[in-house]
Amino acid sequence: MDIQTIPVSSLRKSRSSLKGRQVTTQARADISTLLGDAPLTRTMLIEHLHKIQDAFGHISAAHVAALAEAMRLSQVEVYEVATFYHHFDVVRDGEAPPAKTTIRVCDSVACMMAGAEKLKNSLQSTFGADSAGSVRVISAPCVGACDHAPVAVVGQTQVKSATVEKVSAEISPSPRGEGGFFSQKVDVLDVDTPSPPHLRTSPPPRGEGDALPEFPMFQNCAEGTLRVENVIATLSDANLRGLGGAGFPAGKKWQIVRGFAGARVLVVNADEGEPGTFKDRHYLETNPWQFWEGVLIAAWAVEAHDVYVYLRDEYHDLRRAMTAQLELVNTYLRRRFPSALPNGERENPLTPNPLPMGEGETPVFPNIELRRGAGAYICGEESALIESIEGKRGLPRLRPPYIAERGVFGRPTLAHNVETLYWIPEILAKGAVWWASHGRNDRVGLRSFSVSGRVKNPGVKLAPAGISLNELIGEFCGGMADGHTLYGYLPGGASGGILPASLADVPLDFDTLQPHGAFIGSAAIVVFSQADKARDIALNLMQFFADESCGQCTPCRAGTEKAVTLMQRDTWDEKTLTELSQTMMDASICGLGQAAPNPVLTAMKYFPQEFAAQSAPKVQSSKHGEKSEK
Ligand code: SF4
Repeated sequence: MDIQTIPVSSLRKSRSSLKGRQVTTQARADISTLLGDAPLTRTMLIEHLHKIQDAFGHISAAHVAALAEAMRLSQVEVYEVATFYHHFDVVRDGEAPPAKTTIRVCDSVACMMAGAEKLKNSLQSTFGADSAGSVRVISAPCVGACDHAPVAVVGQTQVKSATVEKVSAEISPSPRGEGGFFSQKVDVLDVDTPSPPHLRTSPPPRGEGDALPEFPMFQNCAEGTLRVENVIATLSDANLRGLGGAGFPAGKKWQIVRGFAGARVLVVNADEGEPGTFKDRHYLETNPWQFWEGVLIAAWAVEAHDVYVYLRDEYHDLRRAMTAQLELVNTYLRRRFPSALPNGERENPLTPNPLPMGEGETPVFPNIELRRGAGAYICGEESALIESIEGKRGLPRLRPPYIAERGVFGRPTLAHNVETLYWIPEILAKGAVWWASHGRNDRVGLRSFSVSGRVKNPGVKLAPAGISLNELIGEFCGGMADGHTLYGYLPGGASGGILPASLADVPLDFDTLQPHGAFIGSAAIVVFSQADKARDIALNLMQFFADESCGQCTPCRAGTEKAVTLMQRDTWDEKTLTELSQTMMDASICGLGQAAPNPVLTAMKYFPQEFAAQSAPKVQSSKHGEKSEK
């Protein structure tokens, strides 16, 4: 047989140009300058997108292509991630970039009650006259400052108790580049309800200026004075439960994670996006070192190789402060344990031999990274948060497997809320009996209530678990705001349902509110009065859920949208809303879709007078329609 040899090169289809968008020289240079020698692994995608957004005020199609090339990802992958998050302005070909300055006006419940819509309209008429189009005013979900409602955010600077004058004063143009488009004043942190002094164990100041922080309880752990079993037993005796909302016992969680072999990971959920919640921010602002000590203890207990602290993007000032704190934490570790190696410097960083200053192998301590959220409420859900850490869209995962077994990069993962970690050093220092000595109505421990709405003194209130709303308002909030009478309240932020004043003596804690169709969640209490309507609040919350649904499953994606439509009508179709709610609760993948019907169901159950009258709320389209492409 006559075999003819054909050159391989001739088999290739000739192509005059590469497929897809070509990377321009300018965009390539921009990305190279912005990224410098930063790692180009997939997990850093969201961090790099932030760099582009911060520098240019938006993310162009050319920059998407150049970033994809640099990170060896497809352009589609980069585009999908960038368009998933509210805080990235992706500009397609032919579209105009957004205005140089964005003013976000929070329209969540507390701000709505404080006149957010009027403020937004005033800002739009003030800045709409700007013919250069350099300012845009848009709505935004809760920014975690509900005790200072209404709140606006200029660029990245929060304006509390906002007025047109205060917002205008924040806008002062500066050149593009370093620090973004506009110079903004440093937001003065003015949390007005610090922890009672008798509850502090950490001798302040710690870690101020160049001084290194002290972590006495962690030191006890690392040096073997405290053993893991004793620490877990203390947390279990104290009945410390996860304070992010789920309420899972902390000690039990540690035991479960320790039961899975592998290079474990600790994830710190500092993405508190539940409308009405701002307690984590409070602790991170007022006593960050106690939080960091809790991080180190938890990492030590589960022998974590890596720690990711995922902070919501809205906490701009905190991010700056925590970046500096993290440097001091690492310096502390190096000085205290000079023979230990950072995990990243080990020959094989995934070999289990983490923090404990044990015998045998060279001791190591974990890499700790501060990660920046990008404005997606769903990333407060732990598996969605993990997806985000991995550089992906924040889509909740199907379970099992649970993250304790397969979390970040498939590794056993412990996830904790900020406040849970915050209390660990104090409980270890004072003992389980101290923690358990607090509580009312047969409940145990302390709860940090984020209180907002129609009370005289809103803020973070550290109170006994099981306190009732009436007691909380009377003893901790100075009573109702002048001229307002209690009409109802949200006991657990957007997800926890709406309860009437007649249930204001029910103990506020895990497990006590379920019989009433509500739950405490992250203890975000929003108080409303006769000046408000439960149906308006329920609609506001459903619109929030519709905007924040990740869209992965139909009952949630379509159900929230449909519910909004039904609730915007003059007359609510209660039967259809009830059936729709049941479907969403039964068939949604994650807690967002499962809990979204709580406000509408409780509003219909406890406020029937509003539906007899059938007064119509003002019809709104999607609250945050500027990102409706999700
Ligand atoms: Fe996404 Fe909603 Fe489904 Fe959760 S319930 S996975 S938020 S669509």
